[in-house]
Amino acid sequence: MKTIALENFNLAGAIHHHALHSPHTTAVASQDQTLSYGELAQRAARLASCLTASPDWQRRDGQAPRVGILASRGIDACVALLGACWAGATYVPIALKQPQDRILTLLAQCDLSALITDDEGLKLLTGRLRQACPKLVIHAGQPTLTSWDNTSQPLIQLTALPPATLSAPALVKASDTAYIIFTSGTTGTPKGVMISAGAAQHYVIMICQQLGLQASDRALETCELSFDFSVHNMFSTWQAGAALHILPATTVMNAVKFVKISGLTVWNSVPSLAGMLRQIKALAPGSLTTLRLTVFGGEQLPASTVTAWQSAAPNSLIFNLYGPTEATVFCLYQVVSNPLALTPGRDALSIGMPLPGNDAKVVDENDQAVARNTPGELLIAGAQLSDGYLGAPALTTGRFPTLEGRRWYRTGDLALCDELGRFHCLGRIDNQVKVMGYRVELEEIDAHLRMVCGSDIVGSVAWPLADGMARGIVSFVNASSIDAARTLEALKSRLPPYMLPSRIIALDALPLSANGKVDRKALRQLLDTQAP
Ligand code: AMP
Repeated sequence: MKTIALENFNLAGAIHHHALHSPHTTAVASQDQTLSYGELAQRAARLASCLTASPDWQRRDGQAPRVGILASRGIDACVALLGACWAGATYVPIALKQPQDRILTLLAQCDLSALITDDEGLKLLTGRLRQACPKLVIHAGQPTLTSWDNTSQPLIQLTALPPATLSAPALVKASDTAYIIFTSGTTGTPKGVMISAGAAQHYVIMICQQLGLQASDRALETCELSFDFSVHNMFSTWQAGAALHILPATTVMNAVKFVKISGLTVWNSVPSLAGMLRQIKALAPGSLTTLRLTVFGGEQLPASTVTAWQSAAPNSLIFNLYGPTEATVFCLYQVVSNPLALTPGRDALSIGMPLPGNDAKVVDENDQAVARNTPGELLIAGAQLSDGYLGAPALTTGRFPTLEGRRWYRTGDLALCDELGRFHCLGRIDNQVKVMGYRVELEEIDAHLRMVCGSDIVGSVAWPLADGMARGIVSFVNASSIDAARTLEALKSRLPPYMLPSRIIALDALPLSANGKVDRKALRQLLDTQAP
């Protein structure tokens, strides 16, 4: 697709284009179902006409209506999300694997005009959660018998809606919010990152060109909608007019077989998935020969993963992409070449240089740019910056400062820029960690731990580490003893599974740093020395 009409920033624009020009080409496939561009557009348009016909469908305070997507990754989730886009809405993915209370907090923050679910999402909509739903709830899955009582609130079945004419997606301005993705928040409440349609559209068009994606590509989807890597996977694939193949959540460990059977040409995942496949010895040399392109991103890329990947996928170019949700998916890139561009003193890949339209600099504590090879905080600017956090103006101002007339985002990453202008990630300056690709603020776990165990002094650490990446969480509580099983049970109703500690340990006195804070480094050392 060569040209795009940029007057309309609707993310569904590319689907509409391909539905008109190559309607029979596969747009999305999962285990048992395939939709062509024509079929996908038809379903999205049908959903959109139901949304826009609703009496509550209107802009509020100048903002596009918001539509929650409560769905696991799959074709129904793609239809739900594209239906919301087609109608000109802001889509808000809601992860299924999180406690009810957390979903309720999120719903309370969003003021949704509608909610679209798949079969899995529908199962969750009982009791308090159902009461917190907007009036319009649409089921995009198979119409099955459900316990949904239609007398107080109807459940609309997508399959029962009349076919819609394939009119163009609603007009969306560059400044409208395309999506809101929630990430872990230090205070204990997740924060909603708002991404404008202009930023999203810039990213999608730019990355599709940068990677050289083609209509003949068959690309892998490994992410849930609540992780912004999914924005890359879906929309860069559809921008190119290529086919998206969704790896079922139940067969993640069979990803290599999935690639082979489906003849995939593009791999997209966090490096942790490749690390896990390597660990279970699924990455045999030459096992991924159909791949021509590999996109790793979202967390540190270990050299050991790259080496194993180069031998498993000898025909594939590898990209290491870096970026926070706040700068629209990815904003720096490094093409992997031999010898590997390694970060000094670490067995991990450089994060490279800014992608077109993005800018990066490393600053000291006074926000002054530092010299080459000097560590400092990495700041990002450019076309992809988020408008800020939903309903949190003070937090937004703090994280998005204007320096010398330009707006920047403070990543919280410790980094340096080498003499070649390549950036290197050296870790965090705060307590944010990545656990198997998920972004976690350790303070969020601590905040909930304090509430459930009644002790003010607690500390969580990412542990153990393998290839420099966290495999789990261990929490410590200042107490002579603790009922770990009961505490964990209580945490389960507050935190998603990937944030739950694998162990909760009571210590008579938690080590403190010079400024009186819990010394997480000392806690990690304690675990290291005790580990067999
Ligand atoms: P998220 O918002 O979930 O995408 O997480 C963003 C954070 O993940 C960044 O601030 C980094 O700490 C880390 N990160 C993302 N991509 C990379 C990468 N390629 N290499 C190292 N760290 C990364």
